[in-house]
This record gives sequence, structure tokens and C-alpha cells, in this order.
Amino acid sequence: MAICDAGLVAGRTCGECTVCCTVMAIDKPEIQKEAGVTCRHCRGGCRIYETRPALCRDYYCGWRQLPILDDAWRPDRSGVFVELEMVDGRTGLSLVLVGNPLKTVRQSWFIDFVITGVRGGLPLELGIPGPKGFQGASLPLNTREMHAAGSSRVRVKELLELELKRLNAHAFEPRIIANAGNDVGQP
Ligand code: SF4
Ligand code: SF4
Repeated sequence: MAICDAGLVAGRTCGECTVCCTVMAIDKPEIQKEAGVTCRHCRGGCRIYETRPALCRDYYCGWRQLPILDDAWRPDRSGVFVELEMVDGRTGLSLVLVGNPLKTVRQSWFIDFVITGVRGGLPLELGIPGPKGFQGASLPLNTREMHAAGSSRVRVKELLELELKRLNAHAFEPRIIANAGNDVGQP
């Protein structure tokens, strides 16, 4: 499976989604906030949209960039925040579960995406955010067991549930914010 990272999907906008304004840590001299804390400028959309920092202007999640993800994959609707990641020198996808993780990995559309991606050689990771102020965790999905599962939805669902169990048991590391002076995290 090839993914296109040549630009943004035409006609696709963030709408009411603000997932990246909460999930990600921001650590730049001009703006900082902890992971898992909603930016204080975020009120049903960015209140400083016209003057938002360059970091925010330049950022787009995988859903904004990838036509292989249909409209239902918008992160606030799907519960999956997709990021493009370099894995072994190749562009792959990190599927971060930001909604109800167990419910998501049991959905047929999610299972089918993993089946198609793994069989098509697309590097995939399954991830969950950490607690507030902590780094998230992720595990590769292109495992020998996943390849052996082939197109079996039942088996792939079992393996996804197992990966989720491992992720939930992860010893999360604090995400130390190095910059200071413009913390936009909500108190
Ligand atoms: S997570 Fe994606 S769709 Fe949602 S606000 Fe951020 S860039 Fe837009
Ligand atoms: S300043 Fe950046 S992180 Fe904050 S709401 Fe606006 S786009 Fe989101």
C-alpha cells in the first residue's frame, strides 16, 4: 500500500476537530504546553487562528494529508489520530487511539485498515496517549503474528486487543517541557 504525502487532501478541513491541540505536547520558545492538556486558545477551534504560531500553521495530521483515509477518519469522529512517521527509512503511519481504544480496535473498518496496510507492506504502529504530561506509547503492527493472521478479522482483532493490553501496561515517561515563557496549557 502506498501513501501519498504530496500535500493536503483537497476540500478537507479540520472543521470542529481540535484533537492535535490537546493530544500533542508543544515545546517551542514561542509556545508550550503539556501533552494531553488542551491549549487555552482552543475553544471549539483556534481563537487566535489568524495569528497562531508557525508550528500550528505548519502542522497537519495524517487525515488532512492522506486520501486513503476517508472522511469518517477525522480524528474527533473516528477516535484515531493518525500521524505520518518515518519507520526504517520509510513513511508509515502511527494510529493513535484518542477515543475509546478498546471500542476502536474492535471496529471492522479499523481492523480492515490494519489488514490492508500490513498485507500491503505499509509500516503501521498502534499508539495510545500517555496520562497528562507524559509521553504516549506505541507498538509496531507489522509483526510476524499479524502477517500470519492474514485476512482473518477475528485473529487480527485478538492481536490488536493484545497490543492494546501491552500499551496500557506501559511505564509512561514524563514529557519534560524545555522551553518556558508562553505556556498555553489550560490550568
Ligand atoms: S487533528 Fe488533524 S483534523 Fe484535527 S485539528 Fe488537528 S490537523 Fe485538523
Ligand atoms: S494556538 Fe495552536 S495549539 Fe493552540 S488552539 Fe491554536 S492551533 Fe491549537
